[in-house]
Amino acid sequence: MALRDVDHVHYLPLFGAVMATALVGSRTATLFVIGVSIAADLAMKGRSDLFDAAVGAGLFIAVSLLLAEVGHRLTNRTALLHSILTSVPVVTLDDEGRIRRITGPAADLLGVAPEDAHERPFSLFAPDFGEDILASFVKDAPLAAPPSGYWLVRRPNGEIVPVIIHGGLLAHSMASERVVLSLADQRPSLAVNDRMRDLMDQLSKSWRLNSMGEMAAILAHELNQPLTAATVYLHACQTDIARAGPIGDSAGRALDLAKTQLLRAGDIIRRMRELIATGASQLTEERVSSMVDDLRPLFDLIRQETGIAVRIDVDTTGDRVLADRIQFQQAITNLVRNAVDAVGDHPGAVVSLTGRSLADEGYEIRIEDNGPGIAEDQMDRIFQPMMTTKAGGMGLGLSVTRSIIESHDAALAVGRSALGGAAFSFRLTPVTELEAA
Ligand code: ADP
Repeated sequence: MALRDVDHVHYLPLFGAVMATALVGSRTATLFVIGVSIAADLAMKGRSDLFDAAVGAGLFIAVSLLLAEVGHRLTNRTALLHSILTSVPVVTLDDEGRIRRITGPAADLLGVAPEDAHERPFSLFAPDFGEDILASFVKDAPLAAPPSGYWLVRRPNGEIVPVIIHGGLLAHSMASERVVLSLADQRPSLAVNDRMRDLMDQLSKSWRLNSMGEMAAILAHELNQPLTAATVYLHACQTDIARAGPIGDSAGRALDLAKTQLLRAGDIIRRMRELIATGASQLTEERVSSMVDDLRPLFDLIRQETGIAVRIDVDTTGDRVLADRIQFQQAITNLVRNAVDAVGDHPGAVVSLTGRSLADEGYEIRIEDNGPGIAEDQMDRIFQPMMTTKAGGMGLGLSVTRSIIESHDAALAVGRSALGGAAFSFRLTPVTELEAA
């Protein structure tokens, strides 16, 4: 047969060149190499039989194209795999948990340059991902589903990044790389959680307002009548006492004070209903020192009842703020009463109310005491309605107070006081600052 005569063996070394080009170069480059190979072969060998030469070249072209196609496909698959791998956070570890290979996104997640992570123990970045975890991988993974879980990665700069790690075991043949881990950054889902928490906060605020609204409406309805009746009786009493002449003067003054307090109680309920209904207070220009001064008779009463004198130190400089007078006083009273309750009746008990201008940061009002303070894990809970540690407490004071402060565009903060107990504070925006804005 004619083919038997074809001396095509001399083409064999050229297949290597074609394959190499197919693996690293483009299709055009491969065709070029095939063309050059045929031309060179013809030139070097010199052909007397044209048919023989054509058959040899034809065979060479056919086999070369086949090889080239296989080469191209292999290259494409490798390139695809490579680009997938370099776009996801993946690390491979050896038997001892050292990083053997790390993709760019994985290095970004760990907060290091890839070359700095190389050969270093993975547990350096995920401290809890120690030897025992790795051993369980290497031992169990061939049989069990690859373990995956939630871990905390600590970056060299100290930042903590939550990740989910999916793990798998590589074939034994790849002796230096035994475990492959893909890392999934969980920060975005935490951000979603934060947004959810904000939403829950808003919902709880509106729940608070609604439930307080109902309670205030009931209270207003139930208390209005006895309050009015008590005011009328007091008035009648005052008239009788006035007839007794100068002897009745002091009793008359006491009744006057009692009447003022009853009217105040009515006012408080009315304002509270307004706050609940509209969610907003009637803010007018007020001086903190003057609003606090109004409360002095109340603090005197507290001193008579408990023996605790509230220390008042309210600076008049920069104390002009926008406030709802009655509600502000209500908030202060709640906080002072809580502080007095907290310190008990021991001789060294201190409750202090201070007001200071903090220039750009507003006018700060602080109520502090040297009682037992509030445990760190209780600081959020105490604001929840119905949360109380007192036998006769309703657990509404702080919830109401916080709503009042928020309706003044401020936030009620709680912390530990330098006096030793709890410190509640909030900052109001001074009027001058508002006008300048
Ligand atoms: P109530 O006074 O009816 O208990 P509050 O909402 O005013 O309701 O207070 C809730 C709880 O917060 C109190 O029961 C108390 O445990 C805690 N608390 C409030 N103020 C202080 C304070 N100054 N020191 C220590 N604990 C306090």
